[in-house]
Amino acid sequence: MPELPEMETYKRLLHERVRGKKIDQVIINREKSINVPVPSFLAEVQSATVVEVERKAKHLLFHLNSGKTLLLHLMLGGWMYFGPDEDSPDRTKQIILSFQNGNLYFIGLRLGYLHLVDEQYLKEELADLGPEPLDPAFTKEGFFEHIRNRRGMLKTTLVNQSFLSGIGNCYSDEICFQAQLHPATKADELTDVQKLSLYEAIRQILQSGIAQGGYMDHPFFMGDQLTGGYKTLVYDREDQPCFRCKNPIQLEELSSKKSFFCPVCQH
Ligand SMILES: [Zn+2]
Repeated sequence: MPELPEMETYKRLLHERVRGKKIDQVIINREKSINVPVPSFLAEVQSATVVEVERKAKHLLFHLNSGKTLLLHLMLGGWMYFGPDEDSPDRTKQIILSFQNGNLYFIGLRLGYLHLVDEQYLKEELADLGPEPLDPAFTKEGFFEHIRNRRGMLKTTLVNQSFLSGIGNCYSDEICFQAQLHPATKADELTDVQKLSLYEAIRQILQSGIAQGGYMDHPFFMGDQLTGGYKTLVYDREDQPCFRCKNPIQLEELSSKKSFFCPVCQH
C-alpha cells in the first residue's frame, strides 16, 4: 500500500502536470470508486480546474476551483498513471480524468476511492490524523511528548494514523531497522537515547523514501525514472542478508502485522 513517500512522489509529479489545469472529461468505469451518483460527479468535476494538489497522510487532495475537493486514497493495490491514451497501461481503469496535456488514470481501485467532498467533510474526515512527521513544527521535543504515554509495540504505534500520519507496513519496518530497535519493543520502555534514534530514523527514512521516489514500482508516466527508486532495507526481504550484519532478515507477525527485521541488529 502506498505510504507517505509514495503519495508525496505522486503529489510532486501531479503538481507539474495538473495544477492550474482544467479537467476536460471524466470517465467513471466503477461507480463504487466514487461517493455520489455518476451524473452529479460529472456535473461538478467536468470543466472544473485543479487549483492545488495537496497530500495529507496517505491521501491526496485535488482542490477544485469550485471549492470542492477530490479526496483520493489508493489503499491496497491502487496506483495512477499519467499520459496519452496510446501509452497508458493495459489495465482496467476505474476512473479517467482527461486534461489537455494528458489523461490521469486511476488503476487498481478496489478498496481505494476518489470522493468528491466539501471543506466541512474534509475537516471531519481528516480530524483524527496525527502529526505529519516531516512537518518542521514536529520537533524532537514534540515527539518525546507525543510518545510518552504510548504503551503499544513500536510496529503498531508507528502504523497508527492517529499517532503519526502516513506511515504504514513498509516504512515502519524501515524506521525500526534504521533506529536499530526491535519492532516489538514497547513504546513506553524506550530510553531517551532510543527515542531520539527513533525520531531521527522516522525523518531520515521518510526523506530518503521521498528523494528516491518511494518503493512502488509502477511508473507514473512514460520514461519515469523517479517512481519506485527506493530500495528497502528490510521490508519484503525475508531471508536475504541484512545490509549491516549479513544475517538473514526475519519475518514475524506482530499483532497480526507482518514485520521484517534483523534479529541481530534490532533489539
Ligand atoms: Zn543486521
